[in-house]
Amino acid sequence: MGEPDRTTWSDSSARAVLQLMVESVAELIGFEVAALSVVLGDELVTLAYTGPEEHREYMEQPDPVSVIEPVLARATPWGRRLRYIEPTPVEELEGHWIHFDPVPSDAEDAWGQGEELFAELSDDDGTVVGILSVDRPASGRRPGARELSLLERYAAQAERAVLTLFEREALLEQVAQAESARHLIRSASRPTLDSLDDVLRHTHDQLVASFDARGSWVHVFQPDGPPISVARTRTGQRVEIDPDVLAFTSELAPRLWDRQRPLVLPDDTEPESLPATVRAHLLRRDDSRVLGVALGVGDECVGLMVLSRDPDQPGWSSVEVASVQQIGHDLGAVLMTARALERERNLVVELQRMDDYRSQVIAMLSHELRTPLTVISGNLELLGDTDLDEEATRYHQAMGRGTERMRQVVDDLLLLARVSNPSHPLVRLPVDLRAVTREVVSLVESTARTKGVSLTVRLGPDPLTVCGDAVELDRLVGNLVSNAVKYTGAGGSVVIAAQHQDDDVVLAVTDTGLGISEEDQRGLFQAFFRTTNPQALREPGTGLGLATVATIVERHQGRVDVASRLGEGSTFTLTLPAG
Ligand code: ADP
Repeated sequence: MGEPDRTTWSDSSARAVLQLMVESVAELIGFEVAALSVVLGDELVTLAYTGPEEHREYMEQPDPVSVIEPVLARATPWGRRLRYIEPTPVEELEGHWIHFDPVPSDAEDAWGQGEELFAELSDDDGTVVGILSVDRPASGRRPGARELSLLERYAAQAERAVLTLFEREALLEQVAQAESARHLIRSASRPTLDSLDDVLRHTHDQLVASFDARGSWVHVFQPDGPPISVARTRTGQRVEIDPDVLAFTSELAPRLWDRQRPLVLPDDTEPESLPATVRAHLLRRDDSRVLGVALGVGDECVGLMVLSRDPDQPGWSSVEVASVQQIGHDLGAVLMTARALERERNLVVELQRMDDYRSQVIAMLSHELRTPLTVISGNLELLGDTDLDEEATRYHQAMGRGTERMRQVVDDLLLLARVSNPSHPLVRLPVDLRAVTREVVSLVESTARTKGVSLTVRLGPDPLTVCGDAVELDRLVGNLVSNAVKYTGAGGSVVIAAQHQDDDVVLAVTDTGLGISEEDQRGLFQAFFRTTNPQALREPGTGLGLATVATIVERHQGRVDVASRLGEGSTFTLTLPAG
């Protein structure tokens, strides 16, 4: 973390502490005026003042920080922090430095007009962070050795107070930045960043920006493959991680995770945890400041995250270490989610691929079967025209039935493969579902009559238009109506009713047939599914009809529902968007 932004420093409790300090200086050392000014950005701002009220407003106006240099140049050191300026006019200070009229005194060591005494407050590097100035001794005389030593002690205290407050300010800022980094890393779990790669890129950007890092390295273990390891510089360039370090990561990360302990280099000297070569590589010969934390969730360690800073940057503060550790937890959770999502997506792609392959194989096989089937049917027909004896006629009829059944299976397979093929587009045209239904009913009427099943059709006078493929819609309604007739015994009834409902056209096929058990209803729309009901199994079928229904309905953005009770009958309801 770089310089704290001192310009934002406005904490009122901090000001109160400094005010108390200048008041003590004035009262205990015997000055009427005491002021404490601190360097905030490029200004010298008086944060605490005690003295004549008429000067307060003036005192509280900030000066440019450049005013300090000429003052220091002219000052004589009096001890460690104290600086004294002889009573000579200092033009550069005009307009910036008030000369208080001294308390009159005839003493030899009288405090003269233009005399200045102040303490220079600086940080460890010697950079001036503020000035504690005093003026107008109440006695009218220069301070003696006792007062000066007291003033030196107050100056030391003031210096500590200012530095502590700056540090606190910097810490507050660090916490805020760490918070924002955490927040942003949490946001990495949003659905748009669902691949591991996305998460790692997002994380790198946030980490280096929030922690002012030279670079970041995130190493993620993969359950079924080599780990993913991405190291980048601040500007995003990829960095190679030494193979020694990579090899040691699988040992180091779980150990850090188990102990919930960070690795802070170069300070960390736990010898048994880090081989010298790994340590040397991590520090990159220039003594970088390295912070490593394990990533994980619960008992599982999923990787390692390492941040580095240049040697001349500040070390990792305890707040930063804690924040980065917390991020290790957050990121661990995000990575687990991303990993799960990636696995799921790969699975979906794989399933899709298998589904496509299955459709292709089915389509190909059906085509291959169709040609020899046509040849067999044709030859059977020719054979039927010849004089066959009774036995041969029986064989001929059996072959005819078998061939017809095979033709049915092949046709059903071809249709299912065609409607399931994603590259076979749906050509939509307005289709009146009433016409489709009438056509279908005309084809099953004779079968129903033969079986003794009554057929009722309720369509209403108005067109029931839907937008879709006429052939597919015909198979859709056809499959439902022929099933109803097929699975209803003599004396039963089938009712087909269609109507508009809001923005949809709804067609219901109700029968009083065998019905379907609840358990069988669950698998009904899967290809090759046939119910466990022995009565239903007596009817010839392929188990492809309802799978085709479901696929066609889906292609038409519709829905198919079933309501059925075993032994009582079934209602299949089609809902299609009105065209
Ligand atoms: P199938 O060619 O066997 O009829 P479907 O996919 O059309 O294939 O139907 C799957 C199974 O669902 C059928 O085997 C049958 O047991 C059951 N089924 C479908 N429609 C009805 C219905 N109207 N009444 C009772 N059972 C039905």
